Amino acid sequence: MKKLLLLIGAVLVAVVLIVIFRAVTLSSRQVQALPSSSITLDTKALAGRLERAVQFQTISYQDRARMNKEAFTGFQKFLEQSFPRVHAAMKKEIVGDYGLLYTWKGRDDKELPILFAAHMDVVPAEYGPDSQWTYPPFQGKTVDGFIWGRGTLDDKESVLGLLEAMEKLLQDGVAPRRTIYIAFGYDEEVGGQHGAAKIAELLNSRQVKLDFVLDEGLTITEGLVPNISKPVALIGIAEKGCLSIELSVESEGGHSSMPPRQTAIGILSSAISKLEKNQFPARMEAPVRKMFETLSPEMPFGLKAVFANLWLFDGLVKKKLASAPRSNALVRTTIAPTIFQAGVQENVLATKARAVINYRLLPGETINKVLLSVRKTINDPRVKIAALEGIKSDPSPIADTGSKGYKAVEQAIRQVFPEVLVAPGLVIAATDSRHYSAMTRNILHFSPVRLRSDDLQRIHGKDERISTEGYKDVVRFYVQFIRNEGTIQ
Ligand SMILES: [Zn+2]
Repeated sequence: MKKLLLLIGAVLVAVVLIVIFRAVTLSSRQVQALPSSSITLDTKALAGRLERAVQFQTISYQDRARMNKEAFTGFQKFLEQSFPRVHAAMKKEIVGDYGLLYTWKGRDDKELPILFAAHMDVVPAEYGPDSQWTYPPFQGKTVDGFIWGRGTLDDKESVLGLLEAMEKLLQDGVAPRRTIYIAFGYDEEVGGQHGAAKIAELLNSRQVKLDFVLDEGLTITEGLVPNISKPVALIGIAEKGCLSIELSVESEGGHSSMPPRQTAIGILSSAISKLEKNQFPARMEAPVRKMFETLSPEMPFGLKAVFANLWLFDGLVKKKLASAPRSNALVRTTIAPTIFQAGVQENVLATKARAVINYRLLPGETINKVLLSVRKTINDPRVKIAALEGIKSDPSPIADTGSKGYKAVEQAIRQVFPEVLVAPGLVIAATDSRHYSAMTRNILHFSPVRLRSDDLQRIHGKDERISTEGYKDVVRFYVQFIRNEGTIQ
């Protein structure tokens, strides 16, 4: 007995020593920034053009007939007038109604081209007596050092920011080493089927392969990563998949005074309840694991000890992450019932009940596996189960953090934002870039925008805005990025 206790004691001491040793020997994984170029930009002129960009109501709708043709064509004309050098030096193609593909031919044909993606469309914004916008969402106005309006954070700051950078580089006589594509979709917010998907189709038909794609998805966050006081730039290396499943039940109907034991509404409710009770298991996949591995050296000692020893604390960390919706989304295929329709009158039994459940798939999951699991969990032949078309995608492949593309984004961030920590991350929403996945496995998600926690609600919400200095940094980032092109090994 004594021997056993001694043995247990020795094992415990050994475990503690390993935990401490791994925590103490953890060193920063932040790359050294190379010297940055001095880039002079006219803040006021930049803000003025972004203001004008906001004024075009390029709203995308699921029902394409509602899209305002003049807004999209007007916006394109505005781009042409605002960026004359870009339009003289690059080939511009209009793809699938309003999609734009610019090609800036490089000197070196042997090296794979790169592609910058962004989208011109925005989500609707209501403005009226009840609206809580401080300034009308499509007025495009700079007040108190901020450019206000729909699209200033998603995603016109990237569309304009990229073109501003290219215009500046052309003015400075920079010629790209390898070919650069710039692809602007116009229906990203409703799935990208007519914009990015068509641009990808065109490039595929030309057998184009890409070194990497840089698209939106993650940003620089301030005060959003717990226990880290410095701003953190996350480069998305994978995107969750997306699937909507329709559940429907039909029944006899009739007078509500003589109901059957279970009505259509009851059957459907119990099916949804089963799904919510049987959540997918929490898993820490590579993008999230790598995020913690990269950031843990910057954390206080206790947390360093935890993250340096995931072999021991994996379960604990997953439990903690799963306890809040935002972090739960990083470790789980999530289930969200979003639509429930049934019934016409209070004394009439519904003959039909219908619900839509939206799933966001963790890397490693597939649409087929989710469908199988839904069937098994509901296990009720009265409930019809069908996958909806529309925004439907498997999780993306995981980009390589050792790739030239990742290193190039990382380096440019450290140059332009020296105080910012950089780490890989997982994008929990769906973006246009998934359409380019046949051309490269390295799809990276990063917009050089700084967001504080109160800014998160502005995206798709009210009072969307970007600071004029922040917008200048967006342009500086893209200029630096292209200037670096080819120097990162
Ligand atoms: Zn967006």
